[in-house]
Amino acid sequence: MGRVAVIGGGASGMMAAVTAARLGAKVTVYEKNDRVGKKILVTGNGKCNFSNRDFSERHYYGDRKKLKVFFDRFSVEDAVDFFIRAGMLVKDKGGYLYPWPEQASAVLEILRMEMRRSGVKTELCADVKRIGNEKGNGLWTVYFGTEKAEHDAVILACGGCAAPKTGSNGDGFALARKLGHRIRPVVPALVQLRCKDHFLKITAGVRCQAKIGLYEEKKGGIRELLQEEEGEVQFTDYGISGIPVFQLSRQAAYLIEEGKAAAVSIDLLPQMDRQEFEEMCGQRMENAYDRTLEEFLLGLANKKINLMMIKEAGHKPADEAGRLGEKRLKKLLYGYKELWVHIDAANSFDHAQVTAGGVELDEVTQNLESEKRPGIFFAGEILDVDGRCGGYNLQWAWTSGYIAGKSAAQRCQKQGGKTEKKNGRQRE
Ligand SMILES: Cc1cc2nc3c(=O)[nH]c(=O)nc-3n(C[C@H](O)[C@H](O)[C@H](O)COP(=O)(O)OP(=O)(O)OC[C@H]3O[C@@H](n4cnc5c(N)ncnc54)[C@H](O)[C@@H]3O)c2cc1C
Repeated sequence: MGRVAVIGGGASGMMAAVTAARLGAKVTVYEKNDRVGKKILVTGNGKCNFSNRDFSERHYYGDRKKLKVFFDRFSVEDAVDFFIRAGMLVKDKGGYLYPWPEQASAVLEILRMEMRRSGVKTELCADVKRIGNEKGNGLWTVYFGTEKAEHDAVILACGGCAAPKTGSNGDGFALARKLGHRIRPVVPALVQLRCKDHFLKITAGVRCQAKIGLYEEKKGGIRELLQEEEGEVQFTDYGISGIPVFQLSRQAAYLIEEGKAAAVSIDLLPQMDRQEFEEMCGQRMENAYDRTLEEFLLGLANKKINLMMIKEAGHKPADEAGRLGEKRLKKLLYGYKELWVHIDAANSFDHAQVTAGGVELDEVTQNLESEKRPGIFFAGEILDVDGRCGGYNLQWAWTSGYIAGKSAAQRCQKQGGKTEKKNGRQRE
């Protein structure tokens, strides 16, 4: 049996390594950090939301037809089965899956144990700078530091650019590019959005339930709705955050990248439909005559939001509401259904959970093997696949890691383990 190199000891690389080793390949994981799986420890706020029972390809961006084929080969059930067989109990929180102790370290330790048990070798502090097959003998040479080693197959599992402190700083894209692969432009995803609006200084720190819509702002004041999300929005002094913001951040980031204008409309009263809202406005205005503006808005939203609304409309909290007149009061109230923020940028990769873009899927086979360079495989975030928040990105790491690991081991079998034969001859 031949040798498989896995470049990157993250979630996808470790799954690939275990899978290939279980099929008999001699596997070495090359990891530039001094330990594997650094990123896993920070996932799900340290609890690791490793998959989700509410599963479909709709939760992903990328070629969904191709993705279905991949997920049919290694599904959520398969991932759960993998961890349960290894000894990890699973907690299901409304479909969101976690290790039973809700400690990300449990997932990492299970993967490390399985690597050890299946005989995977780990080269730490091994920053791979080049992969070549200059000899034309069907083998790939991995260059790390001052050393090199030959392999029958190489799996690129270097991650993307998100959270570079964990090791994934875009190096994998450079390696893939050198091998002749096209990289779809990358942007940060599942990340906070930075906004131009100065009123955010007042609302910083507020968290509230809201429905938000991402719009492209076109010429002539035309706005096109691209995506809607609902959940807890967090206002920061530079912009907006929270799960619903993360979910639409990728589309916003691409709009900005393409030089387009993006805005988000925030409905601060998502529990009310238009009619209920109009009725509420009517009742409130009937009671306006003996109230200050601050009192008029009391109970509608967080106090900081109310004060911001008053200030933005050019009034003062102590102004008499009754004196404003129906039109201006209505305008003030309508702001709660449609508060606009204008997007400046997505926060940087330092703050992002994933990378959108990457090695284009139409240049890899159904076995995640390079169409251009047989023997080179890809797994994880390095590929042009990213998912919504909720365990979908780690599920992609497990699925793609499994497929790449299995396919690499099968290539070794087909090749008859050239590296082994060669080393055997050398020893003789
Ligand atoms: C804060 C945070 C929270 C998250 N929470 C969740 C969550 O709860 N659920 C979920 O599904 N997803 C979550 N994600 C996303 C998820 O962690 C990633 O999508 C997933 O870990 C990607 O796995 P990967 O193996 O492709 O890449 P990575 O985990 O990034 O691993 C790549 C590895 O390759 C190594 N490497 C890179 N280049 C080289 C090189 N040249 N030579 C040697 N080694 C190299 C890196 O050091 C790294 O260890 C979160 C991400 C972050 C940042």
